[in-house]
Amino acid sequence: MIDLRSDTVTRPTAAMRKAMAEAIVGDDVYQEDATVTLLERRAAEVTGKEAAVFLPTGTMGNTIGAKLHTEHGQEILCDSRSHIMNYELAMAAWFTGCLCRQIPTANGVLTWERIQREIRQVNPHSAPTGVIEIENTHNAGGGSVYPIETVNEICDGAHAIGLKVHMDGARVFNAAVALGRPVAEIVAKVDTVTFCLSKALGAPVGSMLAGTKADIARARLYRKRLGGGMRQAGVLAAAGLIALEESPKLLAADHANARWLAEQLNLIPGVQVDIAAVQTNIVFLDVAGTGKTSGELSALFKDRGLLINGPYPERMRIVTHFDADRHACEEAIAIIRSVLR
Ligand SMILES: *Cc1c(COP(=O)(O)O)cnc(C)c1O
Repeated sequence: MIDLRSDTVTRPTAAMRKAMAEAIVGDDVYQEDATVTLLERRAAEVTGKEAAVFLPTGTMGNTIGAKLHTEHGQEILCDSRSHIMNYELAMAAWFTGCLCRQIPTANGVLTWERIQREIRQVNPHSAPTGVIEIENTHNAGGGSVYPIETVNEICDGAHAIGLKVHMDGARVFNAAVALGRPVAEIVAKVDTVTFCLSKALGAPVGSMLAGTKADIARARLYRKRLGGGMRQAGVLAAAGLIALEESPKLLAADHANARWLAEQLNLIPGVQVDIAAVQTNIVFLDVAGTGKTSGELSALFKDRGLLINGPYPERMRIVTHFDADRHACEEAIAIIRSVLR
């Protein structure tokens, strides 16, 4: 099976499995797991933040990130197709007691100009804005990347009126590769950032939340409340360390494969891809012209050994990753051609 449903499907590498077997561990709820502590220190360095905490999932990272900067009865400002709003089972609302105020955008990338108009002060009718949440790269936006100046403008504008900014950087390493800039520069002004080790970086489990020492100390308490206090988690952190150190250099190949797939798909009758929108490892294809729904196509591709999700009836999503090399992408195109012939 060629699996292009998501970059979460990668299997741990041989080096990760070896490191997991040999990891030095302790009880991480007591902060006695040396491997977790090392991963947290490296994540803080890579993001240029004071501290970081190891979490089971990115969803927990966004949940805690939103909680750190809000009080019950406020609003979380985010893009209308954001992960926190659409794909986290309303957990942000559940845990923070806030509503998400959604801003529609073309590709998920917000601007300060747009955000500014939605900011609310408390008054007899409106809940005040509690935090601004931005997603980089933007998943449902097709892997779109925030220009660094846009992130900085949002942060400067927010900070000037006492608001904090949380970045859902599940794929911020893809943004770094696309921009040719270090992650620390991209996230320099955001107050907290979550990133996933288990997406394109290829670790089996885990995400990081980075921010100030004080925020991360509180984040540890929220993690425990959410049931995310893990014990000998060093076996997971060991794979995470390899993902953090080694995998970023593999992402350029994923981006090249995504672009190649986009170009090839566009040559197939009935399929349309906005090639200019393919900035990282995600490709959305419009299949309306095939006369079949994305669900029907998913099933036909699957019969021939290719897994692709159709999250919308007329649009399918392909995500490249290190377990699907160029050869696998070529096979994927051959399967799609044969189905649509
Ligand atoms: C995958 C993802 C997350 C977190 O997902 P988990 O499955 O909870 O780790 C958060 N934000 C975005 C944009 C994602 O793509």
